[in-house]
Amino acid sequence: MDWLEEVMIQCPQCGEEFSIQVETAVVGCVETIEDCAICCRPALIRIVTSGGEVRGIEVEAA
Ligand SMILES: [Zn+2]
Repeated sequence: MDWLEEVMIQCPQCGEEFSIQVETAVVGCVETIEDCAICCRPALIRIVTSGGEVRGIEVEAA
């Protein structure tokens, strides 16, 4: 089974969408900071996973 899932998020700074790889083997809430693929500014991303699937994503400016 593949534990990496690609999800689309919306950049809180420029509003553009870009995709990130999420490790879904981790159960619970994960926080990560990713640089936007378009404007290169950092976004704080909270990802909730369970059962190998992404259940919810929140994005805010970091
Ligand atoms: Zn951006």
